Amino acid sequence: MLDLHTHSRASDGSDTPERIPELALEAGCSAVALTDHDTLDGLAPAGRRATELGIKLVRGCEVSCAWERGSMHVLIYFIDRADTPIEAELANLRADRVVRNERMLKKLRDIGISLTMDEISREAGGKGVGRPHFARVLVGKGVVATPKEAFERFLGAGMPAYVSKARLKPAEVASLAKQSGAVTVLAHPLSLGLTMDEIAAIAAELAEKGFTGIEALYSSYSDQERRSLCEIAARCDLAITGGSDYHGSYKPDLKIGTGRGDLDVPDSLLHALEERRP
Ligand code: AMP
Ligand code: FE
Ligand code: FE
Ligand code: ZN
Repeated sequence: MLDLHTHSRASDGSDTPERIPELALEAGCSAVALTDHDTLDGLAPAGRRATELGIKLVRGCEVSCAWERGSMHVLIYFIDRADTPIEAELANLRADRVVRNERMLKKLRDIGISLTMDEISREAGGKGVGRPHFARVLVGKGVVATPKEAFERFLGAGMPAYVSKARLKPAEVASLAKQSGAVTVLAHPLSLGLTMDEIAAIAAELAEKGFTGIEALYSSYSDQERRSLCEIAARCDLAITGGSDYHGSYKPDLKIGTGRGDLDVPDSLLHALEERRP
């Protein structure tokens, strides 16, 4: 079993990077990918712990891309070389986050909600600050009852404290990843808010643009949805990947490896993905 989609404190998960391979081993995984948003920071400590434990750590990350109808999340795997073009772009995305976070603070202040960057930064453990950390501070202060309410009232797209992020186009990510020896995978395809037929069309387009796979096996998807996404992958000659999207206590219903209990990503998928490395 595998888990090719997890987050640590290097972005918006609650566990240390070292804890990710520990949890994966406990779940019975032979390999786990750490895929923090916009950063590779957790990969070195997670990799060291994985080596101690005798489990494989797949080096990954997740970025949000721009497309006509909103946001598309893309997973990047195998950034194994130093000083790659994709890493330089991740640095730009992180720099943009710093500016964006300040702007979101200001927007909250404008509607009478005072938070400090210190509070949010402390919640995030210093680095990789994002909206989930804002949400948790808002809950802690009693402004909202749940993180979900924080997104619905303030932080979600179109809400009063929302500020958009810098985003690359999917084709740019695919190209930069390829130049870096890495592969790109469309994350949780149903988040695009499209029908299966529309997803099939997008998947064909992405394959054309140099994407390697789609994340067909995802925690929250039904068996039928997983099957349909696997069929789309086969038709487009895309690899299939799968993962829990574990975020620790930020998404408390998910476990590494098994997701909501019924996830089971076979080892063979990692071998197939590795064979498609540029
Ligand atoms: P950011 O990268 O700062 O824009 O934050 C995006 C992250 O916030 C996503 O990866 C999710 O982990 C989380 N998120 C997005 N929408 C929601 C929501 N409605 N409720 C809870 N968490 C969310
Ligand atoms: Fe996240
Ligand atoms: Fe995502
Ligand atoms: Zn994710």
